[in-house]
Amino acid sequence: MSCQGGTTVEGPIETPVPLSATNLPPVVPASPPNAVVGGKCPWGQIKSPAAVAEITPVSLRDIMSEQLASSLQIEEEENLVKEILVAEGIEQPAADGFDLTALQSISSPSDDCSSDFLIAQMLQMQYNKEHDHGLKKVEEKFNGASKVSVSLSNYMMNPCSEEEDSSDEEMDSGKKKKAWDKFEAHEKAFPVIPRCGYVKIDNEMVTKHDVTMSGRRNACKVMENFPPCIHTGDGASFDMQLSNKVYNTLKVYSKSEDDRRTRLHEKKEKSTSEMAMDAKTRLMLYKLVNNQILENVYGVISTGKEAVVLYANGGSVPSDTEMLVEIPKECAVKVFKTTLNEFKTRDKYIKDDYRFKDRFSKQNPRKIIHLWAEKEMHNLNRISKAGIPCPQVVLLKKHILILSFIGTDMKPAPMLKEVRFSKDEDDPVLNSAYNQTIDIITRLYKECNLIHGDLSEYNILWHESKCYVIDVSQAVEPSHPHGLEFLYRDCVNIINFFAKKGLKHIHTPESLFTSLCGFDLDGSGAEAVNQIQDYEKDHELLTFAKPEKPFAFDYCWEQSKGGASSPP
Ligand code: ADP
Ligand code: MN
Repeated sequence: MSCQGGTTVEGPIETPVPLSATNLPPVVPASPPNAVVGGKCPWGQIKSPAAVAEITPVSLRDIMSEQLASSLQIEEEENLVKEILVAEGIEQPAADGFDLTALQSISSPSDDCSSDFLIAQMLQMQYNKEHDHGLKKVEEKFNGASKVSVSLSNYMMNPCSEEEDSSDEEMDSGKKKKAWDKFEAHEKAFPVIPRCGYVKIDNEMVTKHDVTMSGRRNACKVMENFPPCIHTGDGASFDMQLSNKVYNTLKVYSKSEDDRRTRLHEKKEKSTSEMAMDAKTRLMLYKLVNNQILENVYGVISTGKEAVVLYANGGSVPSDTEMLVEIPKECAVKVFKTTLNEFKTRDKYIKDDYRFKDRFSKQNPRKIIHLWAEKEMHNLNRISKAGIPCPQVVLLKKHILILSFIGTDMKPAPMLKEVRFSKDEDDPVLNSAYNQTIDIITRLYKECNLIHGDLSEYNILWHESKCYVIDVSQAVEPSHPHGLEFLYRDCVNIINFFAKKGLKHIHTPESLFTSLCGFDLDGSGAEAVNQIQDYEKDHELLTFAKPEKPFAFDYCWEQSKGGASSPP
């Protein structure tokens, strides 16, 4: 910033600097020039130095301070974002105070720029709204009380948004008015065709198929109804007529253009939600930062089929909140994907889990995603209570689960799959990993009453010579109708892994399975699975036969009535 005396002011200005210390000419002189003191001044009465001291000094530097400007700007933007959020129904009005400074901390140059994108989207939304609102005002002013009105809706960014705000009644009357205006305009241009289908003008028969008339009508439709991106030119100054063929070709083109634009838009929307980080999720993360539950959210540790795991630093929160444990400095934030494709195939884990039965509804898939996160939290709590190494649950917010981080200094612990064991059968590290894994599956089953359901070298982390079990959202209780099948699959996965690593004198999948649940298997592979499935069916029947289970009574009652209800 260059000032009058050629001096340059550098660095941020924290507090107003006393006038004497500045190099800048003050707006109010500190002392009047000697020549006019007490004399008659041509500029009027000059106040005495004492009076001058009472006036708060205003320095040019203050006025032109970029800091002041930017703080005003921030304030303005903050209010804007608040307004948009409230208007879009994303945020409750004046709920726990959405603060833009949190956004700024996230969007600092060292971090990624996704928040900039979000803000840009919001600003665009607001801009569109204001733009449309402005057009509406112009339209109203232009039309006034006139019966023939001009509509600018084709130029609006979002023609429906204005209508959304108004009540249905208003919308109806608006539509009627438009239709009536159109009719009036047409009536002037074209003769009314009576029921007989023709009208005589100057002894000539004019039907609705009359070339001139339909040509004019087509031209009218093009001018009125085509979106503004299709350049129609100015048709008002001459008698424009378009044949049906030309009109149809134009219409097909404009429609395909429109479709193309929507398709592009859809694709973009989808690709962001594929990352599990749709706008809502990002807002939730900002809120977590804003509430100081998290200090920072960094990059992605892993993008799986069902979840994205992010690295974050825990913040500091007073103890009266819903915290379960103190927030660790290093956290893993597991964001369950809000795209539903992957979850459809995994319904079975949750649908038949009696703990979640009442709340499982096919109607609301979004809620099911929340259930997955909740299920992971319950299972992790149960596992950690039994003393099995696993991440600690810090907080659950809808489909976002904050866990303690397994790893050190931003480096996540490797999966068993990634650990380089020596090929030696006697490698103590390899043997220790094996023993710990067997210990995990055994204690999960016996102490936690849980079957992991996806236990493998991918879901065990190796950290400080200990095996940590993770990814337990799909874990079920042994009473689950397919629980034993899941258990057998877990046994196969881990035994195959350690066998491949060179360990010899270890369990077979079948012997491990039997040692856990006591159920003998004659064969292996598909044969074993068949046996297990038969057993599960018998077991299910046995369960239904037990009189103390009320749902078994309901089931039998329905059956006896010939009702087609499925087993509970
Ligand atoms: P997915 O359903 O995508 O497999 P996981 O819970 O298995 O989800 O997490 C995916 C990856 O994220 C893991 O393989 C692991 O590398 C990393 N990860 C998950 N939780 C943690 C954690 N608490 N600490 C460190 N890394 C983690
Ligand atoms: Mn996993």
